[in-house]
Amino acid sequence: MARVLSIYIDPNTCTCSQACVVECPEVLDGDTQDGVPRIREGAEEYFESHVEQLKMAAYVCPVEAVALQIEDEVTKF
Ligand code: SF4
Repeated sequence: MARVLSIYIDPNTCTCSQACVVECPEVLDGDTQDGVPRIREGAEEYFESHVEQLKMAAYVCPVEAVALQIEDEVTKF
């Protein structure tokens, strides 16, 4: 099973559309001062169970500001 290792949202590219937050609100919090979503505190617990939601969050971003690093168990030794 794949697991998300890290999530990065580029604040210089993000247009604060909140589309990514809609896809995975368990991990992404759009209620920030500058409008750029942040990773919720303790959200690492969802990095394995919500891989598909996070992939979708990256996919729907209109400016490709969401970068995911994903570990796949197939490549793990
Ligand atoms: S979907 Fe992209 S542009 Fe919209 S808030 Fe998320 S990172 Fe920013």
